[in-house]
Amino acid sequence: MAANWKMYKNPKETAAFFEKFKPLVEKSNHCDIAICPPFLDLAAALAAAEGTQIGIGGQNLYWAKEGAFTGEISGPMLKAAGCKWVIVGHSERRQYFGETDETVLKRSVAALEAGLLPIVCVGEKLEEREAGQTAALLVKQFTGGIAPLTPEQFAKIAIAYEPVWAIGTGKTATPEMAADAHRILREKAAAAFGQAAADSLRILYGGSVKPDNVKSLMAQPQIDGALVGGASLDPVSFSSIVNF
Ligand code: PEP
Repeated sequence: MAANWKMYKNPKETAAFFEKFKPLVEKSNHCDIAICPPFLDLAAALAAAEGTQIGIGGQNLYWAKEGAFTGEISGPMLKAAGCKWVIVGHSERRQYFGETDETVLKRSVAALEAGLLPIVCVGEKLEEREAGQTAALLVKQFTGGIAPLTPEQFAKIAIAYEPVWAIGTGKTATPEMAADAHRILREKAAAAFGQAAADSLRILYGGSVKPDNVKSLMAQPQIDGALVGGASLDPVSFSSIVNF
């Protein structure tokens, strides 16, 4: 269960979140918990999560290890800070910051080389769904951004299927729609990396996941977890998603 805080919260608010959140998930060992705050909150989140099972992650990284890349953060920097996870290719990065399947691949490889576990995001826009292009789009994103990984690299990633029209809109894909998309991705994974690798791949659903819809989504065997934006900002709400 992964939280994407996007550009919300400062270090003080981060510490306050963890103070409330930690006791609520103290016994939640049935899943991995990942929280991905803005870069400036990482230190506060890492300090607060120390000694717990909560993993901390970045929301993006640059593919060079270091250098003259003003404003960027590298994989080795996230790793050295204590991060375990990193979100790659979120639709907001694709929409506003020029992210492509090619740069998604570069970032994932850089993350893996730094010892981080990438959560690679894919998903269709509303017009693509309405034009019946969802499957083709997912295949394109998988083929360009994920399939070139080595089998060893692929074994370490999670994929987040996030239909863009469901992110932050309150519109959730039905559990069946999400499961269909996950099935397409798993079939592509099996074709590229073999059935065993596809079976152990974790595919998260993201898009307006809330405490009241998480159960029906998680009831789908194809859905292995959730990437949660808005509802992850509140400790009570995110803990009830974790403890669905
Ligand atoms: C996200 O940011 O990845 C996301 C799924 O957002 P929300 O849960 O707010 O739709």
